[in-house]
This record gives sequence, structure tokens and C-alpha cells, in this order.
Amino acid sequence: MKVALINPSWEYRNSIYFGCRAPHLPLELGYSRALLEAAGHEVLMLDGQIQGLSIVDIATRVRDFGPAMTVVTTAPTYLFWRCAPPELRVPQLMLIALGDAAGMTVAVGPHGSATPAPVLRKLGVDIVVRGECEDVIAALADSPARRDIPGISYINASGEVQSIGAAAATRFTDTPALAWPADWLLRHDHHHHRFDTPPVGPGAEVEASRGCPYACTFCAKIDFRDRYRKRDLDVLLQEIDGLIAQGVTYLYFIDEIFLPRPDLLLALKDRNIQFGIQTRIDLWKPELLDLLGAAGCVSIEAGVESLTVEGRALLAKKCKLDTDELSALLIYARRSVPFVQANLIRAEENEMPLVAEWRAQLHERGVWANDPVPLFPYPSSPEYRRLWGMPDDKAWERALDYYLSQFTSFSDIQEEQPLPLSALERA
Ligand code: SF4
Repeated sequence: MKVALINPSWEYRNSIYFGCRAPHLPLELGYSRALLEAAGHEVLMLDGQIQGLSIVDIATRVRDFGPAMTVVTTAPTYLFWRCAPPELRVPQLMLIALGDAAGMTVAVGPHGSATPAPVLRKLGVDIVVRGECEDVIAALADSPARRDIPGISYINASGEVQSIGAAAATRFTDTPALAWPADWLLRHDHHHHRFDTPPVGPGAEVEASRGCPYACTFCAKIDFRDRYRKRDLDVLLQEIDGLIAQGVTYLYFIDEIFLPRPDLLLALKDRNIQFGIQTRIDLWKPELLDLLGAAGCVSIEAGVESLTVEGRALLAKKCKLDTDELSALLIYARRSVPFVQANLIRAEENEMPLVAEWRAQLHERGVWANDPVPLFPYPSSPEYRRLWGMPDDKAWERALDYYLSQFTSFSDIQEEQPLPLSALERA
């Protein structure tokens, strides 16, 4: 079968999206392509951002290719599934532009994973994949008429939304080593979350693990990338060595939580590569932080979220250290890692003087702590379910309206006034 895999060209005008806007490798499409090609399918993979293609450019190339199935993602790569733009504006425009050139249409991403019914209607696609999508896409390509594949949702002949099984989760441990087109890597000059030096040479995103054993209230991963799994080291190193051979100088591990893994760190130490991670600092011992720096880590983003034990407990962080111990580890990490960031979430106003003081103290010791950002209650987060129960057809509208009503100022990245979904999406 001919399959088109599309990461559209994103734009975030009037969106609350606070993730990075630079291009990143669409890992979910990369895995899908590897599985599809291994099964003998012909794949056209397009990335609007990396390839500099507009929606019209992509639609033209897809039409020329003539696929029997087209997959469109609703978030800009797995890295941002947990903080996706709430609106489906760009995927809507992409599918309209594709029209009848797409063949069977499939949407993948965090939106349909949480709320398949409104995504089926808003996008007009044939199938929505709930959860991690690569295995499901491969199964659909093998048997496009099948409507019993776990993880899919579709509108049946009676006009009702039919969902099969639970959200999909791949085994992941043995996901194949990815190889990216040389021109994609050459254009990928972004070094994600790196601030110690301007980027020199291509960057790339990789995955050493998927999911996380914790369940912080604000973390939107219940419907995808939830269970913690480690990727086999030999496969991961094969991918990393291939990237190094293609000239990549910096890796960003998109892992929800990059846990201490001495075998991987020792292997990276032997290689000429630098990298960034997101993690929890409370899970690292000083000697492992030394090894992390020696392995080439130049950027740590660590979720601290709140500066009080009670605040962290309210967020279900299950953090066993107190704030002084967390601070000490962050400062220790900074000895060998040139950029260390502590993430904070906007909490009670009366915590703000404490936050300002703590940020100043850490800055003096070379550790960056962000201006606390407001919490967006994503439908796949425990916080959403605490507030309103299981997500329904209006979950994304409800979460965004709530967010807009809670906060009058927004994070640094949100330059324009965010608007509700009714103003961002087509009816
Ligand atoms: S530790 Fe990080 S990835 Fe894990 S649940 Fe908490 S916020 Fe999410």
C-alpha cells in the first residue's frame, strides 16, 4: 500500500501553546515509516516545518504520490504530545487541502487519544488512532478494511462513534533504529532546549525511554506514553551512531523522564556527542550527575513545580526530598552540566515572593528557574479528571475556557492574546 505520513507546517497564532516552535524530528512518523517499509509498504513522509513546505506544498506532493492512506498528526511530534496546542486548526486546514487526494484518512495525536469523537467530526477523518500510533498505522496498512484493530475509533454506519479496545501502547523496547533523510538533518539546525552555546551542526531528537512511572496531576499522558519502558540499548546506540555518522552534534532525549541509566551514560561518554534531557532531579545521586555531565549532557530541564512540600504533594509529585535538598542537587548538577533549569508551575499568589527569592538564589549559583507558568488542564491529565471527570466531546473547549478565565497574564512565549477554540477552529 502507498501511505503518506504528514507532519503539517504548524502555526500557533492566538494559541496558548507554550512548547518550542522550532522544527523537531517527527519520531512517531519515523517509527511508523520504519514499520511500514519493513512490511513492504511504500511511504511518503513529509514534514512541513523541517522541509519548509506549506500546507499547499504538502497537498501537492501527496496528490502526486497518490496514497491509499494518509496519516496526519495533530501535534508537532511526540515531544509535544503532553503540551500540544489545544486547537485543531492546522490539521483541519491540512485535511481540507488534501481533499480526495489522501485516500483513507487517519488522525493520530493527543487530541483523538483523549477525545476521539470530536476529533473524528472536526477533522472529518475516517479513523482516529487513540494512543501511541506506530503499530496501529502498520496494522491499518496491512488490513485497511479492518475495523477491529485495538486503539482505533471511527464513525460506524449508524453514525455512532465506535472505539475498539483501549488506547494503544507499543512495546517500545525494540522499536527499530531510525534513520532520517540527510537533507532533513542538514536542515535541522535546532538544538532543542540548549542555551550554553549557539548550535553548531545538526541536532536530532531521540528516545531512550517512553512513559513515566509517576502520575503528577498536571501531566497529560494518561492516554499515551504513560507506562514506563526502556528502549534496548543496542537499538538505541545503533540509531545514535547513525546520527553521529550523518554529522549530528547534539541529541535531545524526548523521554518524559530521563532516568539514571549508567549503561547508556557510559556508552555516550565514549562518543563525541552532546545532549539534553528532561528529568526529575530528586532521582539522581551526585555521582550519577557527574557521570551525566561526563557523558556529554549540556542541558537539564528538571521539574520541581512547587517550592513547598505541601505544594508538591498537591501535585502528586511523590518527591521524597525537601526544597533545600532539591536546590543542592540542582546546584551540584550545574558543576558538570552547563545549563540546568528548574521548572515551576504557577501556584498560589502568596507563594510568589518565595518563588522570586528562590529563583534569585539559584540564579546566583548558575541554575535557571523559569517564571512559573500556569497549568493547562489537558484532557489526558489527572487534573482535568479531578475537575470535570472523564473527558467528553467538549473537553478541549472546557479546558481552554477554564485556562483563559484563570489567568490574565501568560507565559513569555504566548505573545498574542490567546483565543477560545471557537475562534481558532473551523466549525
Ligand atoms: S515525573 Fe514528569 S513525566 Fe512523570 S508524571 Fe510527573 S511531570 Fe509527568
